[in-house]
Formats: sequence, structure tokens, C-alpha cells
Amino acid sequence: MNNKEEEKSIFVTSPSLPSLDEYVAEICSIFEKKWVTNMGEKHEELEKKLQNYLDVDNVSLVSNGHMALEIALQSLEMAKGGEIITTPFTFVSTTNAIIRAGFTPVFCDINTTDYTIDVDSIENLITEKTVAILPVHVYGNICDVERIQRIAEKYGLKVIYDAAHAFGVKYKNKGIANYGDISIFSFHATKVYNSIEGGAICTNRDEIKNKVYMLRDFGIKDAESVEYIAPNAKMDEFRAAMGICNLRRVDDDIEKRRVIVEKYRENLSKITGITFLNQQKGVQRNYAYLPITLSSDMRMGRDELVDNLQKSNIFVRKYFYPIVSEFDCYKSSYNACETPIALDISKRVITLPLYPDLSMEDVERVCYKIWEMEVK
Ligand SMILES: *Cc1c(COP(=O)(O)O)cnc(C)c1O
Repeated sequence: MNNKEEEKSIFVTSPSLPSLDEYVAEICSIFEKKWVTNMGEKHEELEKKLQNYLDVDNVSLVSNGHMALEIALQSLEMAKGGEIITTPFTFVSTTNAIIRAGFTPVFCDINTTDYTIDVDSIENLITEKTVAILPVHVYGNICDVERIQRIAEKYGLKVIYDAAHAFGVKYKNKGIANYGDISIFSFHATKVYNSIEGGAICTNRDEIKNKVYMLRDFGIKDAESVEYIAPNAKMDEFRAAMGICNLRRVDDDIEKRRVIVEKYRENLSKITGITFLNQQKGVQRNYAYLPITLSSDMRMGRDELVDNLQKSNIFVRKYFYPIVSEFDCYKSSYNACETPIALDISKRVITLPLYPDLSMEDVERVCYKIWEMEVK
């Protein structure tokens, strides 16, 4: 066997899990009580703990981030068919949720500094049909929440943040979910904080929390009354227990991510042609992803670099590529060229392997391979 074949695989992410003992200890009481889902003890405990951790008045747990988006949209009483301004530089879930909830996505471009929604372009897209803005805190970089709020107030629009990447992020010492009407998080295994699958709807408006309580449970109010036509999006006790375990470690996980990100930057920022996004002012980060953008004059183009890394068993991701408007189910309704910055970045960006247990040796190996291909 030659050296190549011996090289172990480095994946772009790996879930952060408790020890088996810790998880078993957490689920014992579920077996004793035999209350396995429907707002049980673990569920209630996790909601309270997350309210505290995320520094927001109301947290409603749901089955996943996608259902959080759909239910958030349903909860706000916006005119059906209304237009929602969002970006195509996101996971397809964001756009799917808008359509599945009965609204029409309108794509706004992103900016070149942090790849979040280009606030300067929002007002041009507002029509009398516009009901909301649904921006994404991409990679954990926060949108310009203050300017978005001003635009929303001026035109009477709702603001829903897709904060799937932004767990634990703070802006001006406040939890990021304090901005907008609603923020949603994803607790999918690949995210900074996970409950295997899971998600949350966060809001400071108490009346939304009460409605979401029904909307995630078929719209049921009590045994004999149903108020809304809604799906099932409840989180069960076993996942809530996983969430409780993982919350104990999340600060350590974020710190480990920070150290890894520093190392990558130290090693790779000398390579001209590789751009890292800058630290945002006033933001306490979560280091969810590490995107690097390659300039078009690099020796090896993005796709070739990704293929070659794969040959060395290093799996990076083209994230986000393609942009949502290019997918088969969207391309007949949208033109990707209308968001030229998102389109351009999607062709040049990769996210590097990043998870708490990634060893420094592995980080060095990834950096060395990139250096070898682009510089040596
Ligand atoms: C992960 C993700 C979602 C969906 O969350 P799930 O928990 O996987 O359903 C939505 N939006 C963005 C930006 C995401 O990254």
C-alpha cells in the first residue's frame, strides 16, 4: 500500500456527540416514565435552557430547522401569495419553506463583504405584494439587522431570520434571535449545536410562542378543538435529551472551532488568491463554517482544487453551489444572473473541514495540500 492509500479521510464536518454514558444517564428517566414525546420533561427542560443560552424570551422546539421555517411563516398571519424577499445563496430549505408555506420568494443579491443579503438592494425589490424579508445569517455571519429593521418598519414588513448557521452568535452582547420578528435555528447533526435532528423558533413576541405551540402539533388547541391546519413538527424526548447533553459542551466546541479557524487563517492567508471573510464588528462568533473564496487567477480553479483534494481523501464542500435559483425545480421561474454576486461567489467558494474534534495535524494536512496545489 502506498502513502496515498493510507491517508485517512478528512470530512468537512462531523457531529459533536456526548459520551455514550452521558447520553444513557440522560435518557434513563424517559424509560422510567414512558413519556417519549409530546412536550415531555426533557423537552421542557431543553426549551428553558435554550431560552437562557440564546438570551431570548421564547424558544419553541421543533422537529427540524426546515419545519421551524414553515411554521414561523405560518404563524405571522401574512397575506397568502405575498412576496418574501430572500437570497438564493443559502441551503435550499429556505426557499422551499417560503413556497411550501404559500408565499413567493423574490431573490435579492448578497454583498461581497460577508455574503449576507445586500441591504442596498432590498428596497428596489419591494412591491405592494411584499409581506416580509427572510434573510439568512450565512456561515454564522450576521445580516445588517439594524438597517433591515429600519426598512421593515418603513414598509410594514415582517422579518424572519434563517439563523440555522448562527447558534450562539451574539451581536452587541445580545443573542442574535432578539432581532426581527422570529429567528429559526437548526439543530441538525452538521450544525454547531445539534439534537441529531431538531430546530427552534425564537421570538420575543409571546403571542407567537402560543400560536407556535399549536402549529407544531397539527393546530390542536385541546382535545376537542383544532384552530389551525398545521403539520406535526414536535421534538421527541430522546432528541431533547441529546440536546441537553450537547448544550453542556457547546461553549467548548465553539472555542475548539475558533482555534482551528485561527490555524487555517495563519497557514492559508499568505496565499494570494485566497480570501477569508473578515471578523464582523460587535459580533461574538460561533465559527460554524470556514468559507474561503478563490480568485479566478489562481493556478488551479475551484472545481479542480476540490477534485484534487478529494483524491487525497480530503472532502471540502462547495457551499453554497449551485445557488438556489439554478436548481432544476427553480430554474424555469428564476434567472440566476439576476443575482450576479451570489452566482459569482458560488463558483469560487469552498468551505474547509471544520468540527471540534478535527486535529491540528489534519488541519496542517489540508493546508499543505492546498499550498502544494496552488503555490509550490
Ligand atoms: C440546515 C439549514 C436549514 C434546515 O435545517 P434542518 O434542521 O436541516 O431542517 C435551513 N436553512 C439553512 C441555512 C440551513 O443551513
